[in-house]
Amino acid sequence: MTEDELDGDESKSDYIRDLLLADAASERFQGRVQTRFPPEPNGFLHIGHAKAVCLDFAIATENQGRCNLRFDDTNPSTEDVSYVDAIIEDLAWLGFTPDAVHHSSDYFDQLYTWAELLISKGLAYVDDQSADHIAEQRGGFGRPGIESPFRDRTKETNLELFGRMCAGEFTAGTRVLRAKIDMQHENMQMRDPVMYRIRDERHHRTGDTWKIYPTYDWAHGQGDAIEGVTHSLCTLEFSDNRALYDWYLAQLPLDTPPPYQTEFARLELTHTVTSKRQLKKLVDDGVVDGWDDPRLPTLRALRRRGYPAKAIREFCGFIGVARTNARHDIELLESFVRTELNLSASRRMAVLNPLKLVITNWPTDSSGEPFSDVRNLVNNPENDAEGSREVPFSGELWIEQDDFKMDPPPKYFRLAPGREVRLRGGYLVTCTDVVCDDEGVPVEVHCEYDPETAGGAAPDGRKVKATIHWVDAANAVDGSVALYERLFKTQLPGSETGDPVDDLNEDSREVLQHCKFEPALKDVAPGQVVQFERLGYFAADTDRDLLFHRTVGLRDEWARLQKQGGGS
Ligand code: ATP
Ligand code: MG
Repeated sequence: MTEDELDGDESKSDYIRDLLLADAASERFQGRVQTRFPPEPNGFLHIGHAKAVCLDFAIATENQGRCNLRFDDTNPSTEDVSYVDAIIEDLAWLGFTPDAVHHSSDYFDQLYTWAELLISKGLAYVDDQSADHIAEQRGGFGRPGIESPFRDRTKETNLELFGRMCAGEFTAGTRVLRAKIDMQHENMQMRDPVMYRIRDERHHRTGDTWKIYPTYDWAHGQGDAIEGVTHSLCTLEFSDNRALYDWYLAQLPLDTPPPYQTEFARLELTHTVTSKRQLKKLVDDGVVDGWDDPRLPTLRALRRRGYPAKAIREFCGFIGVARTNARHDIELLESFVRTELNLSASRRMAVLNPLKLVITNWPTDSSGEPFSDVRNLVNNPENDAEGSREVPFSGELWIEQDDFKMDPPPKYFRLAPGREVRLRGGYLVTCTDVVCDDEGVPVEVHCEYDPETAGGAAPDGRKVKATIHWVDAANAVDGSVALYERLFKTQLPGSETGDPVDDLNEDSREVLQHCKFEPALKDVAPGQVVQFERLGYFAADTDRDLLFHRTVGLRDEWARLQKQGGGS
């Protein structure tokens, strides 16, 4: 079905897969397996949705079944066609092709007919009370529910009023259709839930046709049944809705065994938020630069930041499904990203905070110009097929400010006065002099190179402890780099005050404007990720030339957390 089949782990076992095995054995669905991914088109997909997507598609694929995309578009006030398109695009990027695309709004007619059926069976009634009043009457645990004074209307009255609700004769909020179940039920969802509310709003697909809209509960299981879904997987907060899901389906004349709902834990990550509402607030308040700001966990932001779709799929497969909510360390996700990029990203050299290095004994050619050398560097040690590239090298280079210290502290083995280091793939150089500005800040480091050490090895076998990267000054390309830190300082944003914004990291982005890139970085395609040697993985911006976003650093923070006995 998708390339994800290749990623799939056949040996996987968990309570959902056990259920599928049991259903297969009992022929509950005559061997059919069908799932669906049901986003509401009111925002962009995020990493949490990716978990649901991967699970829905994996369950279908592993069982030679089908998985549909269904837009759960029952609430016209927040939904928009632009989200529909974005979700389709993000899903494709993540590597999944739905077997069919449906909309809950496709079923509005059928849902209406079925609602009339429930009314005629005496199982639904029109209530004239306000939403607040109805909510209050529901009671709570240990608090009895109060029956609506409209609960015992005749079927005829209910049918007539429901028809008039649909015809737009009443204003929003004045009436709802409710299922007639049990106002003393221990499960609050079963205390005469609302099936329809009046909304005088234009729907992005059905326009002004409808004046009433079904609730999630009255649409979801019915949509599943209409499409032939067998296993309806959703997140734990819907556990209590399952009884209602089953109850509605039990009242309807279905030709096939009803689908059933199984829940799994939402994916949450440390240092970020995965709720559309909270993400929207960050975007609306200008905390970030839009839905694809690389600091967000939306799929478009992760894509822009350079996260490979495969790494996200592998992460989702690895964390698996669970019945209890848990927050995963963001370092674990990053570790999957790093593993994938290590295999796929070409190595390049870039200097982010440049300091000039002058080789004072660099030769000149016959016309007195500095000799132009060319070093041959391997593109990707993990993939021989990527070959090598030529990188210009001459007597004036850029190195990182960090790679030189006037007074090196203990264990600092990089460049310092009198010290020899290796220029990666170049030569060994020894620092002979330093030019400083008025404040004593080094502005130019003078070195002598050893011509016998081309490639970085000394014929006499002498060792140097440090290798640093460089960019040839005469051929350097200028560009910028955006460095990202966690968007939230704390692991659990908002856990103290209830508002994640209180834990925002004010320094989550630093943009460096005058970076020096090796010439090959001019040819990186938009969105492509490369490794800047020693610095990390960086994704070329999709719009602006020579702007790179730091995807992730090189150090495996997850391994470090594991060693410390931390990590969840
Ligand atoms: P939010 O609370 O962010 O608005 P939602 O659940 O309302 O999320 P939907 O668009 O309705 O978002 O979700 C579509 C599907 O994705 C549902 O099956 C939902 O359970 C699942 N989903 C949403 N968020 C997560 C998450 N964090 N982890 C796992 N699955 C999720
Ligand atoms: Mg939802």
